[in-house]
Amino acid sequence: MKRFFALFLTFFIVSLLALGTAYIDGKMRPQYNEEHLWHDTLQHLNELGRQQHQQSIRYRQYAIHAQQAQEPQIATLFRAMAFVEEIKCENCKDVIGALGGVFNAPIETSTPLSSVHDHLQTAIKEKQKCHEQKMQGCIARAINEDNRYLARMLTWCDASDVKMILIMQQAIKVADTDYGPTNDEFTYAACYWVCPNCGNIEWEQMRTCYCPHCMTYSAEFLIFE
Ligand SMILES: [Zn+2]
Repeated sequence: MKRFFALFLTFFIVSLLALGTAYIDGKMRPQYNEEHLWHDTLQHLNELGRQQHQQSIRYRQYAIHAQQAQEPQIATLFRAMAFVEEIKCENCKDVIGALGGVFNAPIETSTPLSSVHDHLQTAIKEKQKCHEQKMQGCIARAINEDNRYLARMLTWCDASDVKMILIMQQAIKVADTDYGPTNDEFTYAACYWVCPNCGNIEWEQMRTCYCPHCMTYSAEFLIFE
């Protein structure tokens, strides 16, 4: 009986030690994996943040150019878009910081200027490329990694980009047609509202009381006119 008890006790202690080792090993492993996971994510976020930073600077230069070219509505649009990119970049920096990374700002270079129409086309192509080739995958990856904070920030960026594409396409349509200001369908938006929290951009016909992305009250929106 004593021998059986001794065997049982030995088996119990060995099992306990094995369980303890497995637990410690399990606790250590995710940390190791997470470090690698965030490394890739941080690389992508830095790339995205730098792109937003550069776009913000470029859109400001496009706005000055449009104003000088007697296109005040386009100048207003580019000013609003520059502010949107600034907010998006700040949100990106916050996520980078929350994941323990550091944002590396790009070196500022001068923007080659063309016509107002070309600037709109360039901005549309850039945003379409990001929306169609990049964001869906990035968002899906963040959701799969269960990083809701990152997924939400990326979803805001993508939604804001899609709206800006539509607004710019509308602006080109106005410039390319002979429709006058009396035709409601083809007129410039007089002003734009930008949510200071997520970078959502709205115009007169599409205004909402609360931001549909982050629920910020519209009275807090910044107005560009
Ligand atoms: Zn918002």
